[in-house]
Amino acid sequence: MIEIKDVSKLFKTKSGDVQAVDNVSIQVDKGEIFGVIGYSGAGKSTLIRLLNGLETVSSGDIRIGDDYINALSGRALRQKRQKVSMIFQHFNLLWSRTVEQNISFPLEIAGVNRRERKKRVKELIDLVGLTGREKAYPSQLSGGQKQRVGIARALSNEPEVLLCDEATSALDPETTDEVLDLLLDIREKLGLTIVLITHEMYVIRKICDRAAVMENGRVVEIGEIKQLFRNPQSSVTKRFVKDDIDDEETNVSFEALREQFPNAELVKLSFVGSKSKTPIVSKIIKKYDVDMNIIAGSIKHTNKESFGHLHVTIDTSPSVLEAITKDLAAENVKLEVETHG
Ligand code: ADP
Repeated sequence: MIEIKDVSKLFKTKSGDVQAVDNVSIQVDKGEIFGVIGYSGAGKSTLIRLLNGLETVSSGDIRIGDDYINALSGRALRQKRQKVSMIFQHFNLLWSRTVEQNISFPLEIAGVNRRERKKRVKELIDLVGLTGREKAYPSQLSGGQKQRVGIARALSNEPEVLLCDEATSALDPETTDEVLDLLLDIREKLGLTIVLITHEMYVIRKICDRAAVMENGRVVEIGEIKQLFRNPQSSVTKRFVKDDIDDEETNVSFEALREQFPNAELVKLSFVGSKSKTPIVSKIIKKYDVDMNIIAGSIKHTNKESFGHLHVTIDTSPSVLEAITKDLAAENVKLEVETHG
C-alpha cells in the first residue's frame, strides 16, 4: 500500500543543513497498522508530513496506492491528499463549528452534495460512537470525544491511508485505550491502512503490527512488535522497551516456589488491565472474602497499564475464582487462573 524508498529530507537553515530524514525505506501493507517510534527530533513528523504531501522529498520516492506523491502537484496532489488523511495530537478541529459541521467540512470542500453529506456524516458519527453529540461544539467535548470527531472527519473522504500524528499523546490512559480500540475497530471494519507516529512504546505495543524505530533521521530497527520487544537490537529500542516496562519485583519460577512451599495449594493469577484498575482488582478479590496469601509475583507498570502475575496460596473453591474472573472482566481486567496441584 505504501512504499517509502530511499527517502531523504534536507532542510536548509541559516545555521546549516539539517538532515531530518536520512535514506529511509519502509513498506506498509494494506490493512496494516504500522508505527514509527522515536525520541524528539528523530524525524517522525517530517516523515509523516512527507507521506501527507505537506513536505516534498529531497531525494527518493514515496508511493501510496497507485500514485507517487512526489510526482503530483496542483489539483492532483490536492485530490490525493484527501485520500491520505491525518489526525493530530491537538485534534485541529474548527472551534466555531459543531461536531457534524466539523465532520462535514472536508466533504463540502470535495464538493459532495448536501444529501450525500448528511448521510455520510450520520454514518461516521455512528462509527465513532458520537451519536447524540451532533450539535455539540468542540469546547463542550472531552478529549476523547474531540479525537473521535478528528477521526470521523479524517474518514469522511474514504481515505486509503490514515496517518496519526501523536494522536493519543494529549489523552489520559483510559481515553488513550478507548481511542486505540476505536482505531483497531476501524481497521477491522474498513480494512484501512494506518501509519502512526509516537514516542510512546505503549501505543506501539497495543495496536501496531510492525514498527520502525527512528534516530537521527534514520530507521535503526524495523520489525514485528513481538520481536522488537523480546529481542531489541539497537540501543534506542532497548531504551524504549526499558522505559515502557518498569519491573517492580523479579519473577520467580513455579518450581522454586514449590520447593519453598511443599504442601500449599499454589495458584497463579495473571492479570492485565489499565493501571487505574489496580485498586478495583483488590476490591473485587476482597469482596469474595478470599484468604489469599501472596508469596511471590511480578507486576509490571507501564505509563498506561499494569500487567503481571501473582503466585498465591489460596483457600477458595474454583467457583469463587470463576466469579472473581467474571467480575474483573466486567471491569475490563483480564484474569487467568492457573492452579498447580
Ligand atoms: P520528531 O517528529 O521525531 O520530533 P522532526 O521531524 O520534527 O522530529 O525533526 C527532525 C529534525 O528536523 C529536527 O532536528 C528538527 O529540528 C528538524 N526540522 C524539522 N522541521 C524543520 C524545518 N521546517 N526546518 C528546519 N529544520 C526542521
